[in-house]
Amino acid sequence: MRIPKRYGQSKENVCPFCGKNAVTENKQGIPVCMKHKEKFIDAKCMCGNWLDVRKGKFGPYFFCIRCGNINFRKGMEMNPQIIKDKPEEKPAKPKETILTPEEAELL
Ligand SMILES: [Zn+2]
Ligand SMILES: [Zn+2]
Repeated sequence: MRIPKRYGQSKENVCPFCGKNAVTENKQGIPVCMKHKEKFIDAKCMCGNWLDVRKGKFGPYFFCIRCGNINFRKGMEMNPQIIKDKPEEKPAKPKETILTPEEAELL
């Protein structure tokens, strides 16, 4: 599939979670990479209100019911916890079985 080049598009089309090229959008309409398609942006304003994610002519931005429009990047900076990936749960590694010489002989 050929993807037509779109010139003049802002370079802001990067995933806000990892900075990689955004190739899709999450459910909020935020450009994200494939990996973060399911991620939601739950951002809070400095005033304590939840921020609305909105999409404008120039890309996504936040809206606070008290403070009004807030720059997307600024909103993300206010909410560093969003981009912090939760430490992936490592599956418990099964302990390597060390065979005793007797056991090895049976193999
Ligand atoms: Zn990403
Ligand atoms: Zn606010």
